Amino acid sequence: MIKSKLPNVGTTIFTTMSALAKEHNAINISQGFPDFECDKKLLELAQKHMNSGFNQYAPMPGALALRERVAEIIFNSHGANYHPETEITITAGATQGIYTCIAAIINPGDEVIIFEPAYDCYQPAIEVHGGIVIPIQLTYPNFTVNWAEVKNKISAKTKAIIINTPHNPSGTTLSQEDLIALEKLVVGTNIMVISDEVYEHMAFDNKPHQSVARFSGLRKQTFIVSSFGKTVHTTGWKIGYVAAPKELMIEFKKIHQFLVFAVNHPFQLALADYLADTSTYKELNQFYQEKRNFFREQIKHSRFKLEPCTGTYFQLVNYSSITNINDEEFTIHLTKEKKLATIPLSVFYTNKTDNKLLRLCFAKKEETLLRAAEIINTI
Ligand code: PMP
Ligand code: GLN
Repeated sequence: MIKSKLPNVGTTIFTTMSALAKEHNAINISQGFPDFECDKKLLELAQKHMNSGFNQYAPMPGALALRERVAEIIFNSHGANYHPETEITITAGATQGIYTCIAAIINPGDEVIIFEPAYDCYQPAIEVHGGIVIPIQLTYPNFTVNWAEVKNKISAKTKAIIINTPHNPSGTTLSQEDLIALEKLVVGTNIMVISDEVYEHMAFDNKPHQSVARFSGLRKQTFIVSSFGKTVHTTGWKIGYVAAPKELMIEFKKIHQFLVFAVNHPFQLALADYLADTSTYKELNQFYQEKRNFFREQIKHSRFKLEPCTGTYFQLVNYSSITNINDEEFTIHLTKEKKLATIPLSVFYTNKTDNKLLRLCFAKKEETLLRAAEIINTI
């Protein structure tokens, strides 16, 4: 018999809700993925590289052309230099990037601070490696970090802090002051930071994304993780990257080479070509800001209360004026009875905190958002 390493883990909420949506023929604004196609040019580039014979292994750390492109994007966006040969690795999506960072640095008994609600891949990866999760709740309703509490929770065993901005599932963003506060706490210690920045090009209202890359002290002890799935509307390609100083990247690659070795080759080359046009990522903020505004406008008179949304493609709504039932039950009810699938927030808390919040994904065609809004406005 197998002694489970993750006895309390079931199937992720994203798989569960997308399956339930399918079963009940519901509009799926639960799992985060676009329901529109990516740019045809990108598909043509992938086809071109397949037809040109790039169908064997890519170099272990990733196609150099894509690593160079990532370095260029980070420099263009944040003015920071990461060396494409030694400080950037292409991963099979951000999930693998995060897992590999954790595998590289966490030993049994090490503590890792995470902020809740927390994206669901952090905790299992920490626990598989014998790490201990130290959850800190973001303060509802603005999901701000209480840095004094973080300071209190840091112990001699703290090995890493995982941050995520723009933040899934809350749709909020960290400010420059937040990053400065984090920098003050960790510089001069052995604490590593894993910065999940998969929504790096989705920060709204002319407030630039605060990447760790902008903070010269902090970035020396940070792994930045991102995903092309979000940026170019190809979540199914599962390609992302990790950027970190050379010494950290050496340890990262020791694990990466035996976990995936290398990532899909022709698609990496297609991304490298496609992202040469800076508008592909520089205009994404505006693109999703318009979707956010459109969707909020459609549901602003509903009985759901709109929470602030400053980044990502998720909008939180509070339903406490509608019913008292718990959020997991409510999402099941909405999917089965109203044909609208959403994500309950309590699943992102170790103690299942239920603030009566649902997460709605607005990375959808206008017609999908209108159909979803029509249902929301009848509830
Ligand atoms: N981190 C966050 C915050 C996410 O929302 C996601 C999923 N979209 C990931 C990591 C994983 O990204 P990927 O699909 O590239 O593995
Ligand atoms: N990140 C996506 C979300 O938050 C889901 C990705 C997945 O299903 N693993 O909905």
